[in-house]
Amino acid sequence: MPANERKCDNCGREIEPGVIPYWVRLEIFASPEPPVIYPDDLFEDHQAKMAELIEQMEALGPEECEAQVYEAYKFVICPACRNYFHHHLRQRKKP
Ligand SMILES: [Zn+2]
Repeated sequence: MPANERKCDNCGREIEPGVIPYWVRLEIFASPEPPVIYPDDLFEDHQAKMAELIEQMEALGPEECEAQVYEAYKFVICPACRNYFHHHLRQRKKP
């Protein structure tokens, strides 16, 4: 594909020269809200719980561990896909 040829990351159509492409940024990250702690949690074996968490993280590997905390993507989309997302997302909950 020539350097000046762009395709929409969503529908795959070519974005013609002179047509404005749009960027979509997607971030997925762990909620910053503190976890809810119940009275029973205070009586757990915390060392055993930590050992269990470390074991789970070792099984996941560093890339998946990092991705569970934060990951970001950037997509280039065509005007038709921009309009689709605009109409379908504007009714959704906003930040
Ligand atoms: Zn598209």
